[in-house]
Amino acid sequence: MTTIERNLQQVHERLKQACTLAGRDVNAVALLAVSKTFDADAVCLALDAGQHAFGENYVQEGTEKIETLRRLRPGVALQWHCIGPLQSNKTRPVAERFDWVQSVDRLKIAQRLSEQRPADLPDLQICLQVNVDGGANKSGVEPEALAELALAVSRLPRLKLRGLMCIPEPVPDFETQRDLFMRAKGLFDQLNAQGLVLDTLSMGMSDDLEAAVAAGSTMVRVGRGVFGSRPAKVTSGA
Ligand SMILES: *Cc1c(COP(=O)(O)O)cnc(C)c1O
Repeated sequence: MTTIERNLQQVHERLKQACTLAGRDVNAVALLAVSKTFDADAVCLALDAGQHAFGENYVQEGTEKIETLRRLRPGVALQWHCIGPLQSNKTRPVAERFDWVQSVDRLKIAQRLSEQRPADLPDLQICLQVNVDGGANKSGVEPEALAELALAVSRLPRLKLRGLMCIPEPVPDFETQRDLFMRAKGLFDQLNAQGLVLDTLSMGMSDDLEAAVAAGSTMVRVGRGVFGSRPAKVTSGA
């Protein structure tokens, strides 16, 4: 058994326990394997172990990996999620190659993705990144501006608004972490009550997926827990 295969088993075991504790169905929480900084071979190993959805932060690294995987595994349906901050001049390769973008936090980005999404591809699946813990220079739409953005994005052609994504600052204790995730869950429920139809609440990473599942996460994004530790600092913003 490869290390990645064993890691995936462990993550699924953690998800199962977290769902049991929360009284939730384990099938209600999807696993996104965050492959940033790891090469195409690592993705292949995860794929061989049954993982089909992958997250990338950097546009160039992600698009290159998508092309490489198409060569290495022709005909295999992979699902690629862009989860890193997007600049408006870098939206085109994302619109042309990814299946999901989880890091939309302003209308201009969504408009460009909508215009640039090729008509022969399925709708680009969108999550709005929301800033739940108020860090001033963090990405993510402020909760006060979320409803208006969500409504506007939901009306754009070739995009399908699926839900919310958040990345709260790490905090040491479970309760505080869960409370932060509960804010995202509250916003998610509010939008659904206002008539949007959202099914995806993307929250929880290697160190806090239990708290996220307790708060209602439907998708956890796990990097190190699947692929092992990353190099200390990643500077490439491309
Ligand atoms: C890197 C990253 C992850 C995964 O983080 P790990 O701590 O390695 O699990 C999840 N979401 C986003 C947005 C990331 O940038």
